[in-house]
Amino acid sequence: MRVRFAPSPTGALHVGGARAALYNWLVARGSGGEFLLRIEDTDKERSTPENIEQILDALRWLGLDWDGEPVLQTTHEDRHRDVVRQLLDEDKAYRSTATADDVKAYKAEHGADRGFRGADHPTRSTDPEVGAVRLRVPEGATVVRDLIRGDTTFQNVHLDDPVIARADGSPLYNLAVAIDDLDAGITHVIRGEDHLSNTPKQLLVLQALGADEPVYAHLPLLHGPDGKKLSKRHGAASVQELRDAGYLPDAVVNYLALLGWGDADDETEIPRDELVKRFAIDRVSKNPARFDEQKLKWLNGKYLRGQGVDGLAATIRGHLEATGHADEIAGRDDLLRTAVEISQEKISTVDDFWTLAGFLFAGPVDDRKARDKWLDAGHLEHLAAVRETLAALDPFSTDVVDQALRALVGERGVKAKDVFQPLRVALAGTAVSPGVFESAAALGRDETLRRVDAALAG
Ligand code: GLU
Repeated sequence: MRVRFAPSPTGALHVGGARAALYNWLVARGSGGEFLLRIEDTDKERSTPENIEQILDALRWLGLDWDGEPVLQTTHEDRHRDVVRQLLDEDKAYRSTATADDVKAYKAEHGADRGFRGADHPTRSTDPEVGAVRLRVPEGATVVRDLIRGDTTFQNVHLDDPVIARADGSPLYNLAVAIDDLDAGITHVIRGEDHLSNTPKQLLVLQALGADEPVYAHLPLLHGPDGKKLSKRHGAASVQELRDAGYLPDAVVNYLALLGWGDADDETEIPRDELVKRFAIDRVSKNPARFDEQKLKWLNGKYLRGQGVDGLAATIRGHLEATGHADEIAGRDDLLRTAVEISQEKISTVDDFWTLAGFLFAGPVDDRKARDKWLDAGHLEHLAAVRETLAALDPFSTDVVDQALRALVGERGVKAKDVFQPLRVALAGTAVSPGVFESAAALGRDETLRRVDAALAG
């Protein structure tokens, strides 16, 4: 199988585009075929080198390697122009000055569902310099063979003679795509369902050339959890945003692969090589798939913990260094390892780590609400008793701290949280952190007492 991903580089790679790229990649790698990358850069204003690089960068991050060099569609323009000329010479296409209004008037006369036929229309141009180029649609039907949707038959009578080139001979999108797929020997075109209406036009071009037709797989739309078309409203909508939010590429690949995959539950952890073996494009459901960031988060948490503490610490170190925390963690590998160990069950992205455990390195945060609630006069009294207890402990380990503070709760006859939360807020500055005994042990006695003293001093 030879497949391709053909993005138009208009900015970030969206989740839907990433899914199309991934499904192509899985099909190619699973069949020993080829995965080509074609940059559809015909919109010259938007196809900047930066936008192209953004797409490549997102694919690299996802680990979707392509075969050969990426090709730019604009480099094929001469070939596209040759095909237009050939179709004109063979009278399979003609020049036409018909405007949108002319087409409307035609339909008013012949019926709204009748495709525009311009070859015998007054707007047909005989001047080879004048008029856009339209392809003659023959009689009959055009069948899109689709591995997900089955066969879709378009009656040609309803299809307008498509415009394939502008008056200046510059080729239009549907011609360019059809020719590029043909020339690259693409066997399967896997792309979003939004292209379904283009497919008959592309097939008509191929038929006019007497060329073989590829098989298609149009992927259903992606919806958010609320059933509406996926957009920024639903959270991270591009690969770049997912990366910045601290997701792991393997988890993203796993989640996207299972989205709408007919026989899989989208919460299953399936490693990449296994996905390559098991993925089958014809099992993708034709119903819209739901992209649910909460499920991705959950899966990501599993992938994070699956790296083991040392692996996770290395991943987190890389992320922290890239996000401006290099100085705070420099030379503190042991603390980082401990912090990761005591945080891992509570984080689902690498970004969560600093929110949860950054205080271990950077000092308590300033969460006013938490301080007002847990460091008021009554709680400070408990905290003073906590200080006395902690100062006497040796060794200052999680277990020892745990036992001593539980005993203190018993002695004072209060609720555990009235003793533990003031300590937590003293250490972290907020009411959410890894386990409070673990946090105290990670900071060590001196630093713990320093923070408690600061809290007692107000
Ligand atoms: N360039 C098109 C897009 O980015 C995809 C074309 C195709 O896959 O045929 O939506």
